[in-house]
Amino acid sequence: MMIATFCRVCGYEPEEAPWGESGQQPTYQYCPCCNTQFGVTDAVFEQIQAERKAWIEAGMPWRSKRYAQPEDWNPLEQIGLIPYQFVNLKEEPELVRALASRPKDEES
Ligand SMILES: [Zn+2]
Repeated sequence: MMIATFCRVCGYEPEEAPWGESGQQPTYQYCPCCNTQFGVTDAVFEQIQAERKAWIEAGMPWRSKRYAQPEDWNPLEQIGLIPYQFVNLKEEPELVRALASRPKDEES
């Protein structure tokens, strides 16, 4: 099983896996991209969706002031890395194309 190293809300890959190597122990750090707090605001499916919706509606901003936005940062590519199980494909059609374009071996 693949350990998800990407933010459940925005797909950013922080230095530390958001929910630890086991996927069970959140770091309680803040995502430098969307500012969700791992283990707090990304623990429940509906909340993940709500957080993502708010971030997308705000124009997918880089939220951290502490960590600089990566030079090659592309939020539209990044959302394709959100783990499938945290996306509602029916209600989040804007994500479908991004998800479809990612490598096959990340689907499981
Ligand atoms: Zn994030």
